[in-house]
Amino acid sequence: ADGNYVEKIPVNQADEFGRLSETFNQMMDGIAERELRIEHQALHDATTGLPNRLAFERRFEAAISAAEMSGARLSVYLVQVGRFGEINNTFGHDIGDALIKEISVMLRRIVKQNDIVARHSSNMFALLLPGAGLNVVDPIVQRILDQVGDPIGVAGHAIDVTLWIGEACFPEHGTSAKTLLQRADTAIFEAKRNIRHFAVYDPAQDPHKPEHLSTMGELHAGLERCEFKLFYQPKIDLNSDTVVAAEALIRWFHPSRGLVPPDSFIPLAEQTGNIHKLTAWVLEAAIAQIAAWRAMNLKIKIAVNLSARDLSTRRLPEDIALLLNRYRVNAADIIIELTESAVMADPGQSIDVLTALNKMGLGLAVDDYGIGYSSMAYIRRLPMQELKIDKSFVLKLASSAGDQIIVRSTVDLGHNLGLKVTAEGVEDQASLAILKDLGCGTGQGYFISKPLPAADFERFMRESRWAVRS
Ligand code: C2E
Ligand code: CA
Ligand code: CA
Repeated sequence: ADGNYVEKIPVNQADEFGRLSETFNQMMDGIAERELRIEHQALHDATTGLPNRLAFERRFEAAISAAEMSGARLSVYLVQVGRFGEINNTFGHDIGDALIKEISVMLRRIVKQNDIVARHSSNMFALLLPGAGLNVVDPIVQRILDQVGDPIGVAGHAIDVTLWIGEACFPEHGTSAKTLLQRADTAIFEAKRNIRHFAVYDPAQDPHKPEHLSTMGELHAGLERCEFKLFYQPKIDLNSDTVVAAEALIRWFHPSRGLVPPDSFIPLAEQTGNIHKLTAWVLEAAIAQIAAWRAMNLKIKIAVNLSARDLSTRRLPEDIALLLNRYRVNAADIIIELTESAVMADPGQSIDVLTALNKMGLGLAVDDYGIGYSSMAYIRRLPMQELKIDKSFVLKLASSAGDQIIVRSTVDLGHNLGLKVTAEGVEDQASLAILKDLGCGTGQGYFISKPLPAADFERFMRESRWAVRS
């Protein structure tokens, strides 16, 4: 019937119709093309041409549905480019983009044709691979890490790249794309914390678990309700037998749980990004305390513990400067204690922040020295003035010849590098005597005093055998 109908149209009208329908088709093609282009833009990253996060999540959901039917396993990886912000600042965004492109090509080359590689966010790629099994590290991870063993050449610059990789597995760690991606992200944080480049999600370490979440809510509330207090543990100069500083140690007096030890909430606060609030509180409380004690004619330095995450805020030196200014306290009266792993989590960024603090005149100490990586070669490049030997080497000092050797060589090494050396965990007279003998400068531990509330610490400074007599 259609054919008949067309035949009935006069020739000139048929021509007209042909032209019209051609224009119409072109128009439609144009629209379709534009829509396709818009769709492409909406689903792809302009720099790398890879699928973007939205596209990745869609494909991931589809893969999960398929896997649910077939019983297959899936592995999702997040690959984070370390210090990408810093690279952008140093080399400019064009080079930053070129580097990302370079890494995207590398990732695409390493994975198989059917594996999905996407740009998840500015410094993060996402990979979706068939699951290798919970305890099997896909060789791809090693291949990726091997590729960045050497600096990557971009526009004449050789850029040192650190990659952090977190993995989550379907179905073990979740059954939705969002959950699994979030868990891969948690795994990255776990990797950094352990100074490894790769980690598989571990539910036992997850700070987002419900019971942890409630702790975090309570932590906020606790700060509002002033449930936190600083205790102070004296540090003694072993030459003059006098108090020279106080280490501020946080305590949480929880209304129903009682005294919560820092070891059970600090790591959580670190992982959930809540540490900044807590640290801000600790710094202000400590600086205010210095001012208060000075007003009572008690001159003492206070050492404050910082976490890895605290060093990721570039504003930290500025924030401390404001507090020092507000309470009219000298920078030299504050000592910042940091573990090696805190510094190693992001060495570039940490060194910047530490250098700024050091320039301001704050004292910097390496905490828990001896456990962890203990790369003295590395520590000597940091602007540190003090080494605190971990208490595990000191607790049994009097009875362990091995510990004596370790402590002796650490004291010597520290002194040779021009560092003050403190031993923590001094629990008896005999250990104290050995430390004096070894020439260790400062001691701290239960034998001298447990951490004390401020009022008790004042009494200690005035009345103990370690009091400063003038
Ligand atoms: P740390 O910095 O190594 O602090 C020393 C820990 O050793 C303290 O435990 C202290 O009470 C304990 N200690 C001191 N002398 C002795 C001793 O002779 N024998 C034994 N067995 N232990 C001794 P505490 O107060 O439970 O703090 C534990 C950790 O929590 C600290 O380890 C520190 O890493 C962290 N922490 C405490 N306060 C803060 C804070 O305000 N901010 C941050 N980020 N971390 C904190
Ligand atoms: Ca400490
Ligand atoms: Ca310590």
